[in-house]
Order: sequence, then C-alpha cells, then structure tokens
Amino acid sequence: MPDTLNKSVAIVGGGPAGLMAAEVLSNAGVQVDVFDAMPSFGRKFLLAGIGGLNITHSEEYTKFCTRYADRQPNLQTTLDLLPPAQLCEWVHGLGIETFVGTSGRVFPKEMKAAPLLRAWLHRLRSKGVRMHVRHRWQGWDAQGQLQFSTQNGSVEYSPTATILALGGASWPKLGSDGAWVPLLRGAGVDVAELESANCGFEVTWSDYLREKFSGSPLKSVTLKFTNEHGRETERPGEMVIGQHGVEGSLIYAFSREIRQRLNAQGSATFTLDLLPGRSVDRVRTEVAGLARSSQSVSSYLKSKLGIAGVKLALLHEVLGKDDFKNTDKLVSTIKALPITVHAARPIDEAISTAGGVRFESMDNNYMLTNKPGTFVAGEMLDWEAPTGGYLLTACFATGMAAGQGVLRWLNDSTTD
Ligand SMILES: Cc1cc2nc3c(=O)[nH]c(=O)nc-3n(C[C@H](O)[C@H](O)[C@H](O)COP(=O)(O)OP(=O)(O)OC[C@H]3O[C@@H](n4cnc5c(N)ncnc54)[C@H](O)[C@@H]3O)c2cc1C
Repeated sequence: MPDTLNKSVAIVGGGPAGLMAAEVLSNAGVQVDVFDAMPSFGRKFLLAGIGGLNITHSEEYTKFCTRYADRQPNLQTTLDLLPPAQLCEWVHGLGIETFVGTSGRVFPKEMKAAPLLRAWLHRLRSKGVRMHVRHRWQGWDAQGQLQFSTQNGSVEYSPTATILALGGASWPKLGSDGAWVPLLRGAGVDVAELESANCGFEVTWSDYLREKFSGSPLKSVTLKFTNEHGRETERPGEMVIGQHGVEGSLIYAFSREIRQRLNAQGSATFTLDLLPGRSVDRVRTEVAGLARSSQSVSSYLKSKLGIAGVKLALLHEVLGKDDFKNTDKLVSTIKALPITVHAARPIDEAISTAGGVRFESMDNNYMLTNKPGTFVAGEMLDWEAPTGGYLLTACFATGMAAGQGVLRWLNDSTTD
C-alpha cells in the first residue's frame, strides 16, 4: 500500500481542470486542498453553461483528436484517458443526463453548468476535499512555500505536491487573468505568450457598415482561407459583423490559422462566398441580366439573388459604384468577397487562450521539470482547440492526467 495517505496536495484553480485533479487524488485517499482567488469555484465553467455547456463532441474519436492540431501528439495519451464517451459517463455519474445536438456537440440535458458543478462540488466535499475561496496565489516564498493573499492577509502553505490549474487569460473578471505567467517564467518555466483563441478579428469597416450593420448575423456563407503553409480550407457557417470587425462561430473555427497568418504577416485575408448554394455559372446568368433590367442594383440583387441587407453592404465595402456594372467583377466578388483583418480582438474578449506552459517544460506526469513537485493542467498549457466541446474535454483530461501524475510521483518518492 503506497504511503500517499499522509501527503497533502494543493490544487490552485477551482475550474474544470483543477477539480478533475482533485477528484483523482481524493479517490486515491490523498488529502486535497483546492484554492481559488474568486469567492466561488468554476466561474468560467458556469459562464460556458450560459451558452448551453457544450461539454464534448460525439464525432468519430480519431477525427475528434485532430482538433488539437499540432498539439495532438502531446495530448493524445491524455485524451485517451478520458475520451468523449467516457467523459459523458462521468457526467452521467453526477446525475446529469446528456444529449447530442444536431451538430454532434454534446450538452447536458438542462443546457446549464450549475447543476453539474453543484453535484460535483458536493461529491468532492463528501470525499474530504477542502475548498478555500478568496485565496489568490502570489507565487512561492523564499522557502518554496505557496503564498496566497487572502482577506486576512498573506497565508503560506506547504503541501507535498501542487497542481496549478490557473486557466488562460480570457474573461479575466471570472478569475483567470494570466497573472501566473511572470510567476512561472520567474521560476524558469518556458511559457509561450498568451494570445486570443476562438476570438473575433478587427476589420476597418466604413462608418456606414459599422453604424447600420454591427451586430448583424451573416448566415449561410462559406469562408475560405489559405493558411501560411498554402493549405486552403473552406467551411460553411455563420458569423457576425461586429463594431470592430468579425466574430462568431465560423470565424472562431479559423481563428488559429488566421492568428498565425497575422503574426507572420501583420494582416490576413479570407474570402466569403455569399451564395454558396449557387454555382458561379448560375450567379453569372442572373447577374448578366442586371444590365438589361430597369430595376435598381439593390432591388435586382435582392429579387434575383436574395442579396440584401448586410450581404449587400459588404459588397459595397469592396466594390465601387461602377464595379456593379462589371459582370465578372460582381460575380467573382459575390462568390469570393475578400475581408482583410489586421488584428485579433483582445484576449479578455476571447473564448479561450492560446499559448501557455510549453509541453517541453514538463514531464509525462505534467510535472514542471524546473520545479519538481509542481504540476500543471488545463487551459494554462500551450494547446488550443476550436469550440465544440474540445476545450472542456482537454481541460478535464489534463486535470485527470496531472492528478494521476501526482499519484505516480508521490508513490515513486515514497518508494525511493
Ligand atoms: C463565454 C465562454 C463560453 C465557453 N463555452 C465553452 C463550451 O461550451 N465548451 C467548452 O468546451 N469550453 C467552453 N469555454 C472554455 C472553457 O470554459 C475553458 O476552457 C475552461 O473553463 C478552462 O478550464 P481550466 O480549469 O483550465 O481554467 P478555468 O476554468 O479558467 O479555471 C481556472 C481557475 O483558476 C483560478 N485562478 C486563476 N489565477 C489564480 C490565482 N492566482 N490564484 C488562485 N486562483 C486563481 C480562477 O479563479 C479559476 O477559477 C467557454 C469559455 C468562455 C469564456
């Protein structure tokens, strides 16, 4: 029997990753203390619940794993610990039913995070997990103890092992503010710059478009983007014209590649097919009739092609008045309207964060090689994924892997 029972583990960060680590450790009989800066746990998880709480995705598992792109090799064994079907079973174990939406995304039946979080915290407490809110981790003191600022002043804590699950830096008012980056860098940990992921991008719109159409959804379009390696991808979907640029699920799906192109070149251009259901020839036949029509351009485009409102305004953004008389130009713009973005929207508006603790900085147990006994998990690691449940799945899975890593390390140190 390993001597882990007289060991204590501090988990800093009471989000999905930290709580999953707490579950693994408390199941093994280890004393766990979870600390969070906020007055309650799981605030970002609760916010995710406002959008329905897309907990994972039901697509074929090999395809699922590719969503982690170039970090798939780093995450594969971790994802295998908690693949989507098993994650759903875990959710069911908390008394929460799930369903698969038409897009293949998996949600709790109630489309909320609160019942799940409540049941989960209750179960953790009943296993003896101690929870400490309003404890903001400030780093390590000269003796290597964890330092927290609390309402009652500074508190030090000296656990056998620590798991940091501090999240990324989006929506900082919910607790994850990325303030840990200089603390870890100061300890010699390699941390990739935190950047916006699943985010909007800035576009210099005309005053007209901004005033009349910001907030307008752009439905049934296909976005085409060529990444910095020359690979062209296209995808149908919906986006939103924002005050500052573009946002919405279709944009988020391309945000990693757009951001990489922006970082390399300072701007990035994608095209939108405004009529993806109609071939170029069909659009050309309709557009050719414009010259013979007595209708105004806008009435004609609306009646023949259904182009009106925000789609028409976008055409006016890139075409001059005379271009509407140029059939070739009008057709090619309807089928491939170029939009150039020049910056990602700020990280505090993003759904998630790219960058973080590099995988090269830790061992297979998720332990920091420069800081033995300190483990890391969740969104604070250097991986990213699109929306669709991939974020939460990897947060839960890395929390589980870090918890198991701590157990292995505790056992190894006991038997040494
Ligand atoms: C609007 C929105 C909707 C989302 N919807 C979905 C969705 O439907 N599906 C999905 O898969 N993902 C979704 N996400 C992303 C998902 O919520 C996050 O990826 C996930 O919560 C990250 O989990 P985590 O445990 O790594 O970090 P977090 O959930 O961010 O938790 C980290 C915790 O650490 C605490 N902390 C930070 N710094 C300190 C410190 N110095 N001291 C003490 N405590 C600290 C924070 O208070 C926080 O409680 C959404 C995100 C947003 C913003």
